[in-house]
Amino acid sequence: MKKCSVKFPINVDGATSELVRISFARVYIEVDASKELPNKVPLMNERNEEFQQAVIYEYVPPVCKHCSLFGYLDKHCRFVGKTSFKE
Ligand SMILES: [Zn+2]
Repeated sequence: MKKCSVKFPINVDGATSELVRISFARVYIEVDASKELPNKVPLMNERNEEFQQAVIYEYVPPVCKHCSLFGYLDKHCRFVGKTSFKE
């Protein structure tokens, strides 16, 4: 599975936007669900130097690799073996 590219942040929590908690940032990002989630992302520091920041996901919903729907794994997919996603 390809690594997912991270896009621009959609939103950040209050502590992150106000820089009151310096131990970690909580950022909402859009990802391509058909690709593997990255465990590091490239960021720029205050000197405009790129570095790799480790990522921790609070929650990763199950996603079916067969139909790409969220909420269940492919072993529970009702579309496996069917030629169409229509029932
Ligand atoms: Zn499925």
